[in-house]
Amino acid sequence: MARFDGKVALVTGAAAGIGGAIVRRLADEGARVVALDIDAAALVHDHPAVVNRVCDMTDRGQVDAMVAGVMAEFGRIDLLFNNAGIGMLEETPDIQDENWERVFRLNVTAVMYAARAIIPHMRAAGGGAIINTASISGLAGDYGHTAYNASKGAVIQYTRAMAIDHGKDNIRVNALCPGLILGTRMTGRISARAQEAWAEATPLGRGGTAEEMAAVAAFLASDDASYMTGSIVVADGGLTAH
Ligand code: NAD
Repeated sequence: MARFDGKVALVTGAAAGIGGAIVRRLADEGARVVALDIDAAALVHDHPAVVNRVCDMTDRGQVDAMVAGVMAEFGRIDLLFNNAGIGMLEETPDIQDENWERVFRLNVTAVMYAARAIIPHMRAAGGGAIINTASISGLAGDYGHTAYNASKGAVIQYTRAMAIDHGKDNIRVNALCPGLILGTRMTGRISARAQEAWAEATPLGRGGTAEEMAAVAAFLASDDASYMTGSIVVADGGLTAH
């Protein structure tokens, strides 16, 4: 028997990168997976247990309609991976309101939209698990990552707040904080020199892979983590151990 047999999972930011790896891992371990992304062209998972759905997670109407559609089709949602996220490089005097708001709309508000729509269904079914992809950038500052740092700090605190509220509902809520993960579109926007410098500063001497993050996310979603909620789980090759 596989770990996620009979479970229905929603993954946001699922076209590629960390979200794509989470989709593949869950499907390989028995879950039926709804892969959600705004990028229709890139959302092309080809696995019998995966359905691809285009959804802008920052659009409350789209999120509510998507959740209603998934409930009508699958009858349950057991696992929610709030993984979609964007970064922005602006020091404070240069911050453009629309950029700040765009980062917060996806990295924080969209997490709330999904959780708000799904928690009542999890509660009615007797429980569930939510995993929010935060970042070590929610725990420590980075040069120029103002909105990103602030938004990831917010999602860490929101994770704790949800965990406290929904322990009674048997809904576990945890956050995953990746370090530098190679090969994703987000990391592709960082210069090769900066990636090398990060890797050198990492005690394990390298960046991580999306598959290594998917392994931790799947653990947090599984019954192996049945006594974990409100946990902020760092998977960064030791970068923040300094
Ligand atoms: P990525 O850019 O490869 O993936 C993000 C995905 O989110 C993309 O497929 C994108 O199309 C999708 N997306 C963007 N806006 C959306 C929207 N409005 N609705 C639905 N989907 C949307 O990045 P990644 O590196 O795989 O990042 C995944 C998560 O991991 C993010 O939350 C990111 O902040 C976090 N993270 C990444 C790293 C890293 O080093 N790559 C480190 C720490 C945390």
